[in-house]
Amino acid sequence: MGPPVFKTGEIEYLGLAGSIPVRLRQAHSTGVRTTMRQADPRSRIPRTDQLLALPAVAEARARLSERTIRAVLAEAQASARSGALPPEAVADAVGAALATRSAMGLRPVLNATGVVVHTNLGRAPLSTAAVQALLAAAGYVDVELDLHSGTRSKRGLGARAALLAACPAADEALVVNNGAAALVLATTALAAGREVVVSRGELIEIGAGFRLPDLIESTGARLREVGTTNRTHLRDYADAIGPDTGCVLKVHPSNFRVEGFTAGVSITELAPLAAERGVPLVVDLGSGLLEPDPLLPDEPDAASALTAGADLTTASGDKLLGGPQAGVLLGRGGIVTRLARHPLARAVRADKLALAALEATVAGGTTPVIAALHAEPTRLRERAERLAAAVGAAVIPHDGRVGGGGAPGVPLPGWAIRLPEAAAQLLREGTPAVLPRVHDGACLVDLRCVPEADDENLTAAVQAAVNGLA
Ligand SMILES: *Cc1c(COP(=O)(O)O)cnc(C)c1O
Repeated sequence: MGPPVFKTGEIEYLGLAGSIPVRLRQAHSTGVRTTMRQADPRSRIPRTDQLLALPAVAEARARLSERTIRAVLAEAQASARSGALPPEAVADAVGAALATRSAMGLRPVLNATGVVVHTNLGRAPLSTAAVQALLAAAGYVDVELDLHSGTRSKRGLGARAALLAACPAADEALVVNNGAAALVLATTALAAGREVVVSRGELIEIGAGFRLPDLIESTGARLREVGTTNRTHLRDYADAIGPDTGCVLKVHPSNFRVEGFTAGVSITELAPLAAERGVPLVVDLGSGLLEPDPLLPDEPDAASALTAGADLTTASGDKLLGGPQAGVLLGRGGIVTRLARHPLARAVRADKLALAALEATVAGGTTPVIAALHAEPTRLRERAERLAAAVGAAVIPHDGRVGGGGAPGVPLPGWAIRLPEAAAQLLREGTPAVLPRVHDGACLVDLRCVPEADDENLTAAVQAAVNGLA
């Protein structure tokens, strides 16, 4: 089927791909006299019913709502009425606008910052396995059904099994909506109306104004602060634990480090005290490593914390674990079950998409987060040099970061290309959108978190930005 031909007034013109023939044909068939006679070009603007008959509209109906499509048509007609768009170009403009419009307002971004877990970019990018699981779970799935018996089953058994297989130190696992929800559920179920004993050195603000002490107090638990900002001793905990203690909480102060004259109490030291007094020891890990990563020796992990004597750990699913937004609770059976049965658990439960993606992340191979963390500096340099040669820029050493509050201050040695600072906005607003790092008056493009498969797209985007600077 060829492009549709519209008749408006006396002028025939081609829609869509016929933008060049339009003018030729118009000039050919009507000549100057027609233009003179067309006193009001607005009469040549295609009507809505004509535009709705375009093949581009039929194609777009699979992706976009009728309301969105009509808004696109109205916008093009309005541009023509205001004179910004020639009436003959309206059909083309509609075709182009519909082709690029997606039902999703979120735009995919190439992360060229070198920051692996970038909160403003949605933290962890999902693995291929997780994306497939998420798509498979998008329809009806047996999330709470035993297909063998046809009866109701517990929710999230697959994710639970994957977590327990990956972290045998835990007896039981529970997945909730995010890390903050995991902490709220734990403090509510264990300490509402009672005290949470926590070191002053661990009362952190995580980001976007999220303050841990406020969150804990919002559950109706009272904070019982022990020690000082830089030093807390075992006897501080011993003095504070009493009949009113709901739990002892240790928080990984993920995004900062206290240096110098400091003292903290390890889980290994604290666990026997908590056990002797009969209070649960909860550890908020933050980052979500299930086992130690040699690259990040100071980053806590669930297996080590539980082995050292923690009763319960809480963590995020979308930081170093590399999965979807989720809160992961791992620990002793009795405690996790108590949390799972609390009425609040229903309000913070994970959705089927997150459960599917988390299970695939934990059961699957290397995640994009781990791949970016462990990217070979020599390979990063080769890729940066190829990009630099293509666009005429310089390559400089550049350290990446874990981000998302993980491993503060730990550099990930790599490379970046350096562009003038003004390139940053052009990159952000380009297609595909690229987020570079702006530092010291320069725009730095770091390839650590850009999948190699996207190198060509990145080169094209950087080239376009460089051209835009000229
Ligand atoms: C990130 C973090 C949280 C909050 O987790 P979310 O998944 O963002 O809700 C809580 N505690 C610590 C220590 C963290 O690092």
